[in-house]
Amino acid sequence: MAEYFTGSFTQQESIPEAGIEAALTVMRHGRLHRYNTAAGELSETALLEQEYAQYVGAKYCLAVASGGYAMATALRALDVAHGDKVLSNSFTLAPVPGAIAAVGAQPVFVGVTEGLTIDLDDLEAKLDQANVLLLSHMRGHICDMDRLMAMCDAAGVKVVEDCAHTMGASWNGVPSGRAGAIGCYSCQTYKHVNSGEGGFLVTDDPELAAKSIMMSGSYMLFERHLAAPDVEIFADIKYETPNISGRMDNLRAAILRPQIADLTTQCQRWNDRYYALEAGFRDIPGLSVVERAPQEVIVGSSIQFLLLDWSEDAVVEVVARCLKRGVELKWFGAAEPVAFTSRYDSWKYANPVQMPASDRILRGVVDMRVPLTFSIEDCELIARIIRAEVSAVYQAQS
Ligand SMILES: *Cc1c(COP(=O)(O)O)cnc(C)c1O
Repeated sequence: MAEYFTGSFTQQESIPEAGIEAALTVMRHGRLHRYNTAAGELSETALLEQEYAQYVGAKYCLAVASGGYAMATALRALDVAHGDKVLSNSFTLAPVPGAIAAVGAQPVFVGVTEGLTIDLDDLEAKLDQANVLLLSHMRGHICDMDRLMAMCDAAGVKVVEDCAHTMGASWNGVPSGRAGAIGCYSCQTYKHVNSGEGGFLVTDDPELAAKSIMMSGSYMLFERHLAAPDVEIFADIKYETPNISGRMDNLRAAILRPQIADLTTQCQRWNDRYYALEAGFRDIPGLSVVERAPQEVIVGSSIQFLLLDWSEDAVVEVVARCLKRGVELKWFGAAEPVAFTSRYDSWKYANPVQMPASDRILRGVVDMRVPLTFSIEDCELIARIIRAEVSAVYQAQS
């Protein structure tokens, strides 16, 4: 009897009761705009920033409208200008090159390794082409950050980290987003906290923080922030920085605060599921597990495996056979981008240069979401289904 999985790969958990209660309070008093506060009141947004800064050990934190907005703001704060080049990953999600394009700059794509991290040798060869690297920890895979930072510091290249999939993760004890000049996070439904949309930007640099706060649309109300630099830092910046509205609101912040408080527990729950899946993927002929570095503390909210050098037809067949049994896999190698699986060579506005070594890896990347609504037993069942279908197609091929 074939087993079937009936859960949903897009169903996240509900918002914690404390978040629902706090959201109702905000709706009842009606002060949703972050600077609309009663006398003596600290806004939910300002408190959220303070709590998230504490969580990642950053001096400054700004909550914004989306992860994409945080990245574009980070690039603007670093004075990336029209026509500049910005280094970035070839394996990432569309909002990353999109943030570069949003400031009129041009992405220079860097290759991907079999560990699904940025190819540091390729990066080293391209470091002289730009002053900024927008580093995407795509699908939660963190490269050797010690080597990357040493290389970028030596070359004078500033690093902005896209931590959409690494909120709560770390490398060598350093929280993801804290090695570079600026860390960016997303609070969109499919990431590690869920306010529908939203994002954070963190930094220890007072000028970058002040510029980002002004850009996000603080008007002259930056004194109401609790995770912002001293007001003196704003003395000139407040006149010199355009307002590019992208604030977070108190309703989203109210929903997020209890989730930040729960984040450590939630990350552990993700990893319990991830490692159950990973164990189930071991020793399947033709399938490569993506090995994680010992320095990496991950958050397993999605899992990837490689079907390296498989024919297109065979991968398509695996995906189709798994889907028939309720297991939704996404393939990054498809010729045409589907759902969120677009690839660097589909971002034609960026004039991508073809990278054959990366293409070989991207053609083999299969991806699966791991929502917390799955139980450990669900993950074991999913792994059995994948094992059976990958094995069947692999045997038929050889
Ligand atoms: C989701 C995502 C983003 C951007 O987040 P939004 O909040 O949706 O703008 C950036 N990078 C990666 C890798 C993502 O998956």
